[in-house]
Amino acid sequence: AEAIVHPRYLDEHVPGELDSIDTFIFDCDGVLWKGGNAINGSIEALTALRRAGKQLFFVTNNSAHSRAEMVQKFSRLGLDVEKTEIIGAAYAAAAWLKARNFCEKAYVIGERGIYDELEELGIEVATRIGDADSSEMTDAEFIELEVEEGVGAIVVGGDSAFNYRKLAYASLCLQQGCWFVATNPDAADRIGSRLKPGAGAMVAAVKEAAQCEPNVIAGKPSSWLLELLENEYGIKMSRTAVVGDRLDTDIRMGRLSGAAMTVLTLSGVRIVAHFPP
Ligand code: PLP
Ligand code: CA
Repeated sequence: AEAIVHPRYLDEHVPGELDSIDTFIFDCDGVLWKGGNAINGSIEALTALRRAGKQLFFVTNNSAHSRAEMVQKFSRLGLDVEKTEIIGAAYAAAAWLKARNFCEKAYVIGERGIYDELEELGIEVATRIGDADSSEMTDAEFIELEVEEGVGAIVVGGDSAFNYRKLAYASLCLQQGCWFVATNPDAADRIGSRLKPGAGAMVAAVKEAAQCEPNVIAGKPSSWLLELLENEYGIKMSRTAVVGDRLDTDIRMGRLSGAAMTVLTLSGVRIVAHFPP
């Protein structure tokens, strides 16, 4: 009942009314799966689309996992997916630095996916300040805090071990001229009836603490991500359908990109309050 597109519908309508679509961009959490479980019918729908000759891409704003980890997740759920079919916010953030020939170190607030993608793209990760010590910080400690030599950027994503030391250090990096790369804008992710703080909440804290805006918010619906999709992946948006569960990231990206079709599933977060006027 929750299938994004019922496989039987696909058998009847592909080819046909989807003739003008070559490519489908799928959001992941809330559309293909919820946490660890596939949404009923999603894998079958993807398989049917592939059988109909459609090209699939999976674009997630979750920065906690690298593309390599996502491949494993798809495999567990029963679908063979290549790393080159996945674009995650952590990868998009690392790719933004790479595209600027960034060759300094990046300080990370976030989960393993960010560290892995930075390393995969040959970007050195700075010392993990605040990871081992989350105790309260005195003014004297703050005054003595120094940014490690060679740090030229901070990358901020959702971090379930976020703390004041990380915030203070990130703020200091920005005050000393580092790039500010945010992985994604999602302020909160829905778990059942609860809102779990997302990357956007941590980005906002850093932004307020340092009184400056990110140079890029790499994930959906940024213009950087669209640039990646069109230039690196060669996707023609005018022949692409974008499927997602969020208006403010997925559907917005589809609309901004001139996608042929946007599809809002009602299987996911149903957060519509952040949609800009
Ligand atoms: N960020 C985090 C930390 C998440 O847990 C999720 C969803 O699980 C997302 C972002 C959004 O991911 P997606 O774009 O696949 O819906
Ligand atoms: Ca989603």
